[in-house]
Amino acid sequence: MKDDRFTGNFTQQEPLPEAAIEAAVRVMRSGRLHRYNTAPGELAETALLEQEFAAYMGSAYALAVASGGYALATALRAVGVEPGEPVLTNAFTLAPVPGAIASVGAVPVFVGVTEGLVIDLDDLAAKAKGARVLLLSHMRGHIADMDRLMAIAEAAGLIVIEDCAHTMGARWNGVLSGRHGLIGAYSTQTYKHLNSGEGGLLVTDDAEVAAKMVMLSGSYMLYDRHLAGPGREAFEAVKYTTPNVSGRMDNLRAAVLRPQLADLDAQCGRWNERYRAVEAGLAAVPGLTLIARPEAEDYVMSSFQFLLMDWSAAAVRDVVARAGARGVELKWFGAAEPLGFTSRYDSWRYAPSAPMARTDRVLAGLLDLRLPLTFSLEDCATIARIIREEVGAVFQAGA
Ligand SMILES: *Cc1c(COP(=O)(O)O)cnc(C)c1O
Repeated sequence: MKDDRFTGNFTQQEPLPEAAIEAAVRVMRSGRLHRYNTAPGELAETALLEQEFAAYMGSAYALAVASGGYALATALRAVGVEPGEPVLTNAFTLAPVPGAIASVGAVPVFVGVTEGLVIDLDDLAAKAKGARVLLLSHMRGHIADMDRLMAIAEAAGLIVIEDCAHTMGARWNGVLSGRHGLIGAYSTQTYKHLNSGEGGLLVTDDAEVAAKMVMLSGSYMLYDRHLAGPGREAFEAVKYTTPNVSGRMDNLRAAVLRPQLADLDAQCGRWNERYRAVEAGLAAVPGLTLIARPEAEDYVMSSFQFLLMDWSAAAVRDVVARAGARGVELKWFGAAEPLGFTSRYDSWRYAPSAPMARTDRVLAGLLDLRLPLTFSLEDCATIARIIREEVGAVFQAGA
């Protein structure tokens, strides 16, 4: 058994559901792909998606846009972030998050990560007074104690924007991720929980913020065609002063997303089965630390993380190489140079940062793998076994 290989593809998602394919063909046959290009009496797919997403999230308003990163930048613009302004964000997140801050000329200020892979709330409390906005990233689906986080934010007068690229459908204490802060932002890029290739969604209960985001997305004066936007009066106040930073979603992408949204909860359940299969297979492996999941968190995990805490870089590299030779692709966040998507706060040299010892210790041991729904539960057990064997071999040799 020792030399068996896993042959699955870590980046292969499932095909889109037939209903999505049929809806896409209908839109293509119509030729009306632009969201404001509708026949008399027709409701655009994009407007319907927004209405359905607002209903799912229990939000007053929703807006569909061109990407998750665009959604984040739009949220920052809507709350008036200005050039040169410091914006708090996670030291451990994906590059489009500090990138969104930089795109509006603001300055990312990094807050550390804990061994639970969430934002360090003590570090946040210490840095909260120096900023007006927190762009909070629920990176890789790990949700911080949102009750404590919101208390810190309220005490410091911080506006919270949630990056929920990995937490669409997840909850903290029963509240959907993205519904704690002023704005929730989501991605529908292929590797997230809904797949339209590229795409983003925004939710809020604030009419002024919603009106600004609709104008920013490029609504021209056609905002009354939205089914999940605020009333006309909200636009009167902002329509001449909010720039059009064109980034709309189109009807083709909205059409493929609507049937997927209807399936979201079921898909989340399937992801979690796979996550738990890997977690069970990696229980009690000497030298390997699993990520503890708080009781209050209802996670949705389309990827898996574990820590090799305080291992030498050479030993971690050895594990990555040995697992890779057996077909298991592990991404390491501790390498000196970013590879693929493994960049971290000190990789983003356009933003100033000082070393963070606790964060560096976590990232130095952090390994990550994707769990697409094309993997069976048996595949997940095989992946866990290969990791267990290779971690065990290197650990015994003296990590
Ligand atoms: C993917 C991702 C984004 C950005 O989404 P895009 O749709 O790819 O622009 C933002 N934050 C996190 C944590 C992500 O994983």
